[in-house]
Amino acid sequence: MVKNLLEAFTLPSSLDSSQRPFIVSGPCSAESREQVLETARQLSALGRVNLFRAGIWKPRTRPHSFEGKGTEALDWLVEARQETGIPIATEVANAQHVEVCLEAGLDVLWIGARTTVSPFAVQEIADALAGTKIPVIVKNPMHADLKLWMGAIERISETVGGPVWAMHRGFSSYGLKEYRNAPMWEIPIGLRAEMPDTPLLCDPSHISGNRTLIASVAQKAMDLGMHGLMLESHRSPDDALSDAGQQLTPQDLDTLLDGLTIRQSDAKPEQVDGLGAMRLQMDSLDEQLIELLHARMDLARDIGRFKLEHGMTILQLERWHEVLKTRSAWGNSLKLGPEFTSKLLEQLHKESIRVQNEEMIKKK
Ligand code: PEP
Ligand code: MN
Repeated sequence: MVKNLLEAFTLPSSLDSSQRPFIVSGPCSAESREQVLETARQLSALGRVNLFRAGIWKPRTRPHSFEGKGTEALDWLVEARQETGIPIATEVANAQHVEVCLEAGLDVLWIGARTTVSPFAVQEIADALAGTKIPVIVKNPMHADLKLWMGAIERISETVGGPVWAMHRGFSSYGLKEYRNAPMWEIPIGLRAEMPDTPLLCDPSHISGNRTLIASVAQKAMDLGMHGLMLESHRSPDDALSDAGQQLTPQDLDTLLDGLTIRQSDAKPEQVDGLGAMRLQMDSLDEQLIELLHARMDLARDIGRFKLEHGMTILQLERWHEVLKTRSAWGNSLKLGPEFTSKLLEQLHKESIRVQNEEMIKKK
C-alpha cells in the first residue's frame, strides 16, 4: 500500500484527463474510535479516496475549544487503515508529534498553516524527519507569503528522502469575507512557477469554511491543473467537534467529485499562462478591494452610531481635510494619479456620509 502511494506521489506536473485527482479525505479531527472507523468505512465504499486524513492535535485559534484526542487517536487511524486499506495521514506540529507518528507507522504527514509560518518549527520537524522517506505535505502559511511557503518546502526536502507536496489552503485576512481563507490564487500559481516539480494539492474545505463554496473552489483548483484535493468529511458533519460547517458527508463528497470537470493535461491550463494569470491576479485584487470597501463602510456605520450617541454632527470638516491630505500623500507616493485619488476619496466620503445618515435615520 505504501509503495502504491509513493508511486501515486510521483505524479506528473499536471493531470491527464484519464487520471482522477489525488483525493485526501477524512474528518477535520479524530473525535472517537467509532467516528474515525465509520467515516473511513463510508469513504472506502466510494472507492475513490487515496489518503485518509484526521487531525489528532488540533491547532485551535482560541484555547479551551476541542484540541484533539492526541496520541491515543493514532491507534484509531491505524485500525481504519487495516480495515479499509487506505493509507493514513495526520498533521504534525513539532518533533514529538513526528516521533510518535513515525512509531505508529503513518503513511503521510502534513504540516499545517499555523506551523508553516515558523521556520523554527518547520526546521524542528525537518530535523525529526531526517533520514526517513515518509511523504510530507506542506500547507501554505497563514498569510500570503510565497517565499515562506517555498522555504518550508525546501527545509523539509533537504532532510526527507520521500516526496514533498504543497497544499494550498488559502490565506487569513482581516474583516468580513466570502471565504474563510482568501484563495489568492496568484500565490499557488506563483509556487507552481517557482517550483514546477513540486506537486500541488488544494484544500477547498479550509478555503471555503462552509459547504456551499467547496465545489466551486475545487473546480477552480482543477482548472488550474492542481494535482489533488483535500476535502474534509465526517459521518455526521453537523455534530463535528471542529470545522462543522465545512465538512461533507462521504455521500456528498462523492457527488461533489462526480460534478468536477477535469481538463486535458497537455492543453496547458490557459489561466496559468500570460494574460490569463494576470487576469486571475486582477480578480483576486478586486475581490480584496471589494472586501476592504465593505469593511470600511461597516466601520462608517459604527462611527455613525457613535456620533449619534454623543450628539456629534456627521460631517466633521477638520477630519475630512485630514483624511484628504494624508490619503492624497499616500497615493502620490505610490504614483497614483492625483485626480484619480481625489475622486476616489470623494466617492468614499460621500458613501460614508450616506451610510452614517442611514444609521441616524434608523435610530430616530
Ligand atoms: C486541517 O487540515 O485540519 C487544518 C488545521 O488545516 P490548516 O492548517 O490549513 O488550518
Ligand atoms: Mn479542519
